[in-house]
Amino acid sequence: MSSIMSGKRGLIMGVANNHSIAWGIAKTLAEHGAELAFTYQGDALRKRVEPLANSLGSSLVLPCDVEDVATVDATFAALKEAWGTLDFVVHAIGFSDKYELKGRYADTTRENFSRTMVISCFSFTEVAKRAVELMPNGGSLVTLTYGGSTRVMPNYNVMGVAKAALEASVRYLANDFGPQGIRVNALSPGPVRTLAGAGITDARLMFNYQKRHAPLRRTVSIEEIGGSALYLLSSLSTGVTGEIHYVDSGYNIISMPAPDALKT
Ligand code: NAD
Repeated sequence: MSSIMSGKRGLIMGVANNHSIAWGIAKTLAEHGAELAFTYQGDALRKRVEPLANSLGSSLVLPCDVEDVATVDATFAALKEAWGTLDFVVHAIGFSDKYELKGRYADTTRENFSRTMVISCFSFTEVAKRAVELMPNGGSLVTLTYGGSTRVMPNYNVMGVAKAALEASVRYLANDFGPQGIRVNALSPGPVRTLAGAGITDARLMFNYQKRHAPLRRTVSIEEIGGSALYLLSSLSTGVTGEIHYVDSGYNIISMPAPDALKT
């Protein structure tokens, strides 16, 4: 087995269960030799995340709710104490009130707009700022976005706006940290059946639409997203930063679906 990540240590943020995109990424990185630490959002998730982390040989499992900056600080303090340095971070965190992930974007409330932006966008900047302090020899940061950032996806609403801001953050952070040899990129997967994905009204329709109309005529697995994360976090992509890398069976290149796909 390849061990391209041997000797590399990284933090995985955003595992809720074994369907999470972060879990697909963690499994792939561990298979290729990475040593991992995990965060979980709150006590309710601890009992799910701890056994998953342990199954990959990880015992560094830390509470972190990005709405509470003290827990973000505590996470990086714990990593500094345990490891001293860090090679990579995966940020797979997103949230918006599901009652606003339906209907019109125009009806988004000020309160949910702010909360969505803080959790789904600003938290990446806050995490990145702390992570780079532990990366004296360079590193790689990856976040998760979605194509609803650049094109209108029914019901995605304020999450699309937050993902657009997240993608802009990727470019600004890549420029800020590039001189230190730290790369910053995003993966943009197509729809995946996860807890967060299920919060979007008509998620099943989006899922089936992609299956019918994407060039590959299917959706993607969390392991395939893991493969792309491995590329961005490893020495395979040392010349790549500030990019939004689609992992969506090619859906983003389509303007009008193929006639045969329209008939199915
Ligand atoms: P998921 O529900 O498994 O993961 C979302 C994670 O966000 C959970 O672990 C949750 O605990 C965490 N989170 C939410 N609020 C938080 C907070 N305040 N503090 C800390 N953690 C918090 O769902 P997922 O689909 O694996 O989502 C991971 C990322 O992938 C998200 O950014 C999501 O927008 C993105 N994404 C998902 C899809 C999809 O179709 N599922 C497609 C493209 C991008």
